Amino acid sequence: MAAMAMESELREAVRLLADKQAILVFTGAGISTDSGIPDFRGPQGVWTRLDPSEFTYQRYLADPEHRRRRWQMALDSPIRDAAPNPAHVAVVDLWKAGKMAGCVTQNIDGLHQAAGLPDQEVVEVHGTARRVACLGCSAGWPTEEVLERVRAGEDDPVCPHCGGILKTATISFGQMMPEAAMARAYDLAGRADAVLSVGSTLSVYPAAFIPLEAVGRGVPLVIVNRGPTEHDHTASMKVDGSAGQALPHLVAAIT
Ligand SMILES: [Zn+2]
Repeated sequence: MAAMAMESELREAVRLLADKQAILVFTGAGISTDSGIPDFRGPQGVWTRLDPSEFTYQRYLADPEHRRRRWQMALDSPIRDAAPNPAHVAVVDLWKAGKMAGCVTQNIDGLHQAAGLPDQEVVEVHGTARRVACLGCSAGWPTEEVLERVRAGEDDPVCPHCGGILKTATISFGQMMPEAAMARAYDLAGRADAVLSVGSTLSVYPAAFIPLEAVGRGVPLVIVNRGPTEHDHTASMKVDGSAGQALPHLVAAIT
């Protein structure tokens, strides 16, 4: 029964997107759960075990003990070993077919690029866990290089150039959104002729304003997500299912 419901939802999603040439793909944690990365807000989500108020930017700056704990958590992060799944590959296929305006992601796992999407096609509005930056001089390194130093005994590594605090290039609670990335994302939203939102509950702002901006111009919104989102009522079609199952079918049918 559920499978049949998803089939008819997919048929309608295909009808809505078939003739579109500039689809804005907007992705959230749900596209990466099939890659073994737990989401934040679901019933098994990270925030059921950890208190988000402990993870502010201000705390990171002020508390060396907190930073030590964060580097240890980074060593254990499931992101380090995660590989792209068929949903990430489907996004690459959509791009190759010339039907994608761009991909805006809330994810910090770098799996769109790992699947083969060029950097310039991906806007990471919450930053990336694959890079570390100095908060003093903005020098940067691949995260693995810095984790190597942590493993070798530097439990709160500092910048070799200026002595500044190092932090993964992700956007923490209480931290400014990256201006250039947000501007690129809104530019894509302004050019899109449809929005395909995958694995996002569309409940985290300001990121969720980006797809909604395009939808506000009257372009269709197709949502692929397991479970409800905050904007199901706005969607032209909602496909309730896992991204890894639904997206390859959807993209194959429109490319
Ligand atoms: Zn520095």
